[in-house]
Amino acid sequence: MSESRFAERWDGLSGAPRQAHLTILQSYMTNGAPPPASQFSAEVLAELARRDLVHVRNGEIALAYPFSTSPTDFLVRLGDVTVYAVCAVDALGTPAMVRKPAEIVCNCPTCGARVCLNVSSDGLTVENASTSDPRVWAGVVAVESCAADSQCKSMLLFCSPEHLDTWKRSQPQSARGFDLSLAQGVQLGAAVFRPFLHAQTSTAAS
Ligand SMILES: [Zn+2]
Repeated sequence: MSESRFAERWDGLSGAPRQAHLTILQSYMTNGAPPPASQFSAEVLAELARRDLVHVRNGEIALAYPFSTSPTDFLVRLGDVTVYAVCAVDALGTPAMVRKPAEIVCNCPTCGARVCLNVSSDGLTVENASTSDPRVWAGVVAVESCAADSQCKSMLLFCSPEHLDTWKRSQPQSARGFDLSLAQGVQLGAAVFRPFLHAQTSTAAS
């Protein structure tokens, strides 16, 4: 994520919108689902949408990065709670954000095979993975107002280098992006998502 995009998300986020964001993330973390959108004012939800943090669709909170309300190919287990992530990098960044170990299950876009892995509580270490060399594809695309509709659609996890290659060859235009090892994908996810709870805590304390 670029510096300016980071600033657009966090600069001046305070008061009711910050509290609402925290409440929404906590709800996904403890219930696997968001609270009712009606719990928050339209102004607060509009502010969080403008910052591309939370999006409401059809009157319900549809996503609050890294979490998605509807099922995706990226499942995260935090203790007994099962929650879905918006994309592969979001799933891999969740343990660093919540500071808990997590089991992550992704479906390879090429063959549909489940790739299961565990990330340690510091969010930085892959403890085991069900295939020997899963690859994380971090696609480079222009981000519109909602990353979930653009960038996240090209953040994928493949069971093997061969299946990443197969997918790349199937793309109508040559796919631009980074081919990352699982360890690199976890580092990227941790860098993006660690501030989501941490920034709020530190700002709230000031
Ligand atoms: Zn595969």
